[in-house]
Amino acid sequence: MDRVDVAIVGAGPVGAALAALLVPAGLSVRVLEARAAPSRDARTLALSQASRDCLGQAGGWPGAGVTAITDIHVSQKGGPGRTLITAADQGLAALGYTVAYASLEEALGRRLAQLGAAVSWGAACAEIDLDVEGAKLRLAGGGALEARLLVLADGGANARRIPGLAYAEKDYGQVAVTGPVRTDRPHRGRAYERFTPEGPVALLPVDDRYALVWTATPAKAERLLAMDEGAFLAGLQAHFGDRAGRFVASGPLAAFPLRLRTINTTVALRTVIAGNAAQAMHPIAGQGLNIGLRDAAALAAILSAEPGVDPGSPAVLEAYRASRRRDAGRGVAFTDFLVGAFMDARRLPTWGRGAALTMLDLLPPARRWLAGRMIHGAPTP
Ligand SMILES: Cc1cc2nc3c(=O)[nH]c(=O)nc-3n(C[C@H](O)[C@H](O)[C@H](O)COP(=O)(O)OP(=O)(O)OC[C@H]3O[C@@H](n4cnc5c(N)ncnc54)[C@H](O)[C@@H]3O)c2cc1C
Repeated sequence: MDRVDVAIVGAGPVGAALAALLVPAGLSVRVLEARAAPSRDARTLALSQASRDCLGQAGGWPGAGVTAITDIHVSQKGGPGRTLITAADQGLAALGYTVAYASLEEALGRRLAQLGAAVSWGAACAEIDLDVEGAKLRLAGGGALEARLLVLADGGANARRIPGLAYAEKDYGQVAVTGPVRTDRPHRGRAYERFTPEGPVALLPVDDRYALVWTATPAKAERLLAMDEGAFLAGLQAHFGDRAGRFVASGPLAAFPLRLRTINTTVALRTVIAGNAAQAMHPIAGQGLNIGLRDAAALAAILSAEPGVDPGSPAVLEAYRASRRRDAGRGVAFTDFLVGAFMDARRLPTWGRGAALTMLDLLPPARRWLAGRMIHGAPTP
């Protein structure tokens, strides 16, 4: 049976970035991916400067197809208050960047090939056997692998196989309808986040257009997906208003059901859980992958700090758990709070939301604090 230092299950952005950080640190790494080939997922991701730094360090930052977000306009439908968070306020060139999931996948895949750690495609992990010495994995198509450390970066597919690991789930009863849209005005790097009683609508600047994330009930999402372009654009205009201009074109749409899922602990015997496998959240605040990349960066920092350390030792696992608990927990709580506060009038009435947005607008330090948290996460205690 092949034996490596670290087996990473899942070649999504978190698993691939982690591998690209670990190989240069001298660890032998295998990345197992269930898909037969890269996903070419059409979703657009908003990534923070910290994520850009992490991917840059991993050598997986896409050279092209990246758009800078210079400000974010936040407002609510049917109520007062709005705020503008700007990069200039933060003393930064950009608040973040938009990148296609598929471009990220490609850039990281190229980097792993350069490092001689190419992804094993069509290698679904089907069985996990853990003991104090290491993790033994059986693959669906035959074959096996042994590792001193197992990292589950598989979006949540395998954790339930491990004794002691369990998920808590909350279904928001919402679906994100996503796709490209164009307006009759250039975006000039501005992103929009508009809270509505149905759920948030976001427009992210991408090249010369926007990526739309429209959250709706499952029934409404089905109707949106079935509409012709004219009806869809008219519906979007009525829902979003005219702050970004007139909607003139839309592209193919996709739908993602939205739920919050968190794991009870991010470590188990010889195992680390990272990225969406540890916390999968509503895309309202664009935090999911940003937090997942901080998981990858934290584990890589721990393993790189002590060359030769047993990567699955209890000390490493505990250091990882402790370093991620606060940041990931707060990211999840913040995102869940936003979903509740801006959708549920019993938790925060419309005037209260308006006041909060106005306060944010009037208080630059509060805006800086919020933007800082969204860019870097909560500080490690
Ligand atoms: C509509 C939408 C918009 C979003 N926008 C943002 C945003 O703006 N900013 C942001 O930070 N985040 C955003 N997110 C969240 C972001 O997409 C996720 O946090 C991110 O994709 C998680 O990466 P990951 O590598 O942990 O998991 P995934 O991307 O889910 O990858 C997991 C991989 O594991 C593989 N796998 C599964 N089972 C097995 C198995 N048994 N064996 C081997 N491989 C397996 C899968 O095939 C997959 O390739 C958004 C999400 C959605 C749905």
